[in-house]
Amino acid sequence: MQATEQAIRQVVQEVLAQLNKGGAEKSVASRDGDWGVFKDVDQAVAAASEAFEKLSDAGMDARRKAIECVRQICDSQAEELGTLEFNETKIGRLDHKIEKLKIIKLVPGTEFIRTDAFSGDNGLTIVEYAPFGVIGAITPVTHSLPTLAGNVINMVASGNTLIVNPHPSGARIACEGVRRFNKAIHKATGLENLITIIEQPTLETAAAIFAHRGVKLLCVTGGPAVARAALESRKKAVVAGPGNPPVVVDETACLENAAKSIVKGAAYDNNLLCIGEKEVFAVESIFDTLMVRMGQQGGYQLSAREVDALTKLAFTPPTKPGDHWHLNRDLVGSDATKLAELIGVRVPAGTQLLFGETDVNNPFVPEEQMMPFVPFVRAKNVNQAIELALEYEHGFRHTSLIHSRNVQTMTKMGKAVDTTLFIKNGPSMAGLGLGGEGYLSFSIATPTGEGVTNPLTFTRSRRCVLVDSLRVI
Ligand code: NAD
Repeated sequence: MQATEQAIRQVVQEVLAQLNKGGAEKSVASRDGDWGVFKDVDQAVAAASEAFEKLSDAGMDARRKAIECVRQICDSQAEELGTLEFNETKIGRLDHKIEKLKIIKLVPGTEFIRTDAFSGDNGLTIVEYAPFGVIGAITPVTHSLPTLAGNVINMVASGNTLIVNPHPSGARIACEGVRRFNKAIHKATGLENLITIIEQPTLETAAAIFAHRGVKLLCVTGGPAVARAALESRKKAVVAGPGNPPVVVDETACLENAAKSIVKGAAYDNNLLCIGEKEVFAVESIFDTLMVRMGQQGGYQLSAREVDALTKLAFTPPTKPGDHWHLNRDLVGSDATKLAELIGVRVPAGTQLLFGETDVNNPFVPEEQMMPFVPFVRAKNVNQAIELALEYEHGFRHTSLIHSRNVQTMTKMGKAVDTTLFIKNGPSMAGLGLGGEGYLSFSIATPTGEGVTNPLTFTRSRRCVLVDSLRVI
């Protein structure tokens, strides 16, 4: 009898514990949005502000644990999350969507936070890198969750919290990522809402974030319109803007490596990367051989007639003087095989990139096409190739590349184009620590000059001075 009573008591206690647990989870969800996902900007900023205070109290160890949750989820759930992103955005390549999440672990975190010190006869001064508070982040459709995850790692490492306005066409995956990150962070640290996000983002919610008094810094990753809006905003903004990366190939280059690198960089995620090779200026003397090497490295050369047909599908001509060509967004991020099919060309299975000879009047040269066709333009010599690269990079100062063994030529181009990333003898991703030295980020701040963002990008420098004391020498 006694044993039965005890067993019943135990069952009742277990049920109550379960109910309490469920209740606690529910209260977090309902009080503070759905694990960081909010309908309203004011509520999201309020939650992120409260989270900022708590993160400040929790210290460096909590930041470290939170970042580890994001890295771990991106690595272990990459297949599932990459597939969700691919199915929602319908652009790029599934294998690369998955890979872009797997490599999130390469984005630097708290290990980048340091303290500088000056010590002398007048005492000791330290310079610490402090957080801003709540950061408003705008993310692109081309890498919705990878950009968000990379921003979270950088920004939380430096003690900030976030409100994110994702691209509407990649919002579902961004919200799903935020829910998963916040749940794991809550479990690991007890902290809630380090990341908040707007469930149905619009230009109005972006404007509300830009103007909100509770948002202390903006970080905008996207094309010309949003970059302009951020530069015009009254807040400090870290702007990762558009690019149109030119590639120069001179007569001294290893053509096999040049072709291999151009195919690898331009075909990655169907040329969605802002750093991806978008147009090539190759000198006359090696031009034809380079085209043959491109074909040997997985590219497929289109004839002049086929290039013309693709151009007509990919762009609408300007309608008034001063206007530019308009990109057909339906083709952005399409497979090379699909682009070929649309113009009636059957390419070998596994073709990653289409390419063809054009002149500079073809819109594929000036416009950021974000699809796997790369125009190749003949230059009479390397000086002309560099001049064209400078012209068609449009002064974005984003990314440029050269294939050459001549150090003087490399230096000349580096000085002339003045880009944030300048990559020599490798594919564009080498500029982000993928096959080149350096670290990874999906937000490369170009017009505002911070470069490949890292945790220190999102800090305020604070000097703390102790006069005439504390030195031990
Ligand atoms: P996009 O400009 O269409 O959208 C980017 C983000 O800005 C989205 O969240 C969008 O909703 C928002 N947005 C657009 N116009 C806005 C406005 N007027 N006010 C406020 N928000 C606005 O770009 P996309 O197609 O998502 O991404 C591709 C573009 O982003 C390319 O130009 C690419 O070069 C650039 N990009 C740059 C970097 C970098 O690190 N520099 C990284 C990725 C992408």
